[in-house]
Amino acid sequence: MQSDRTDVLIVGAGLAGLSSAMFLGLHGVHSVVVERRRSTSTLPKARGQNPITMEALRVAGVAEAIHAAIPPGRPNITSVVSESMTGRVIHDHVANRPDFSRFSPERPGMASQAKTERAFAARARELGADIRFETSCESFEQDADGVQVVLRSLAADRLYRVSARYVIAADGIRGTLARKLGIGTHGHGLLTTATAVRFRADLSKIAGDSAMVVHYIQNPGLPDGAGVLVSTDYRNEWVANMSADPERDEAGTAEIIRTMVGLPDLDFEVLDSITYDYAHRIADRFREGRVFLVGDAAHVMPPTGGQGGNAAVQDGYYLGWKLAAVVQGRAGPELLDSHDAERRPYTEVVCTWQAANLAERRNMPGLGERVGKPMDHATMMFGYASLEGAFVPDGSGEVREFENPATPSGRPGARVPYAELPGIEGPLQPRKLLGPYFMVFTAARNGVAAAESAAKDFGLALKAYRVASVQPLGAEPEGTVLVRPDGVVAWRGADPADLEPALRTVLCR
Ligand SMILES: Cc1cc2nc3c(=O)[nH]c(=O)nc-3n(C[C@H](O)[C@H](O)[C@H](O)COP(=O)(O)OP(=O)(O)OC[C@H]3O[C@@H](n4cnc5c(N)ncnc54)[C@H](O)[C@@H]3O)c2cc1C
Repeated sequence: MQSDRTDVLIVGAGLAGLSSAMFLGLHGVHSVVVERRRSTSTLPKARGQNPITMEALRVAGVAEAIHAAIPPGRPNITSVVSESMTGRVIHDHVANRPDFSRFSPERPGMASQAKTERAFAARARELGADIRFETSCESFEQDADGVQVVLRSLAADRLYRVSARYVIAADGIRGTLARKLGIGTHGHGLLTTATAVRFRADLSKIAGDSAMVVHYIQNPGLPDGAGVLVSTDYRNEWVANMSADPERDEAGTAEIIRTMVGLPDLDFEVLDSITYDYAHRIADRFREGRVFLVGDAAHVMPPTGGQGGNAAVQDGYYLGWKLAAVVQGRAGPELLDSHDAERRPYTEVVCTWQAANLAERRNMPGLGERVGKPMDHATMMFGYASLEGAFVPDGSGEVREFENPATPSGRPGARVPYAELPGIEGPLQPRKLLGPYFMVFTAARNGVAAAESAAKDFGLALKAYRVASVQPLGAEPEGTVLVRPDGVVAWRGADPADLEPALRTVLCR
């Protein structure tokens, strides 16, 4: 059997796998991505990129492509709970959403999953990824030196081997890699099963001209009293999500769509449908030896709230620089333990947030009792600060896993705050300067020299900025702050001579 070698093999070319390939490429590691489908997904699944995802995509160089992939209409979002598309609005999510522009320099994207995956695949290839469609991962075995993977070229019906130093399991909700690794799951399990029916209808007069329209419909005339109506990339194409029922016939589906829209005579054409599970399931660990879980392979959540695809993209962002640093010999392999330590607690909360949204928006009181009320949206999105991971804790004050994003601590393990620093040559905003490198902001006289010397010692890409004060980042005014390539604070302190040992700790050297 023919045999290839690669540093990183990625199984699955969905959002998580392609994001991982993109960020590894950005940090100089060429991966092989295998995907059993013939192309990226064409199904109308996730839509929308939150500002944190957009920050990552700006770093990857695809933010403009994502913004350009906006569907027709004004760049507005309609997201409401209503009795029908034409009926009473019960709650307007957009009108009641906090102003996220205080927490991030990026505005949300509205691209569909299909267009996002295409943009990611193109960018990952530009950055050196070898994406092989119609190729499935059949089996794998790992030992202390690497992972031996057996792949099947589906077009040629030929088996071959790839020897990889590391594997990323991005094989989605139905993936089998985690199970084969003996990784169990926990969570509330299967919540409900839904059918998504894509249909063509001219709803322009009632839908308004927002580029993205979502109606969470609560109506006793619907199965289980609820459904979701979502716009697509095409003005006259819509998706109606309803509780699944294998006995339902065409007339039953038609009646549900008409109830959702609120027009008993609506004329429409059904194009296709898929049935899928809403579940709440988190892997017990996100790493087993040389294999890492990302995306739905690691955490499955119902789609209510739109964070599943976002979490998948962000997994690749947060893992990419770490894996690249280890593969390139700039960091010790223990750095990779932080993938589980940092991502699992966060995605657990996101899964529960989406389940709590499902309970509220689809009126499922039993589920609501189990998962509680959804956490404040801005806190869930911007307030996470890891308790453990690749950073040097500074023992300052009370340490919380979710902070109020309006009063960020800026402590190691948290996002570097979206704040303006008084730079020597004008104001600087660290979150606008993110890129595939570490950053140092320092008010100490010898801070830049210390940072450059430490970067040279470790062979790291690092940008150092002298500022008049780092107080806006929550640090002592005269201090120094070290920021990781994913925008998380790695260390802060008074003496820049401590930067070198801090980097040594972060990189597990
Ligand atoms: C109807 C629907 C609506 C949704 N709406 C939203 C939303 O609005 N916002 C949001 O953020 N999220 C949404 N989601 C969730 C989002 O689509 C997923 O979270 C996201 O696709 C996860 O990406 P992934 O890369 O982890 O998995 P996937 O996209 O499932 O990709 C996994 C890939 O791995 C491949 N694969 C599996 N096993 C193998 C193997 N052995 N060999 C080779 N290839 C393999 C599969 O073919 C698949 O292409 C929605 C999901 C659905 C179903």
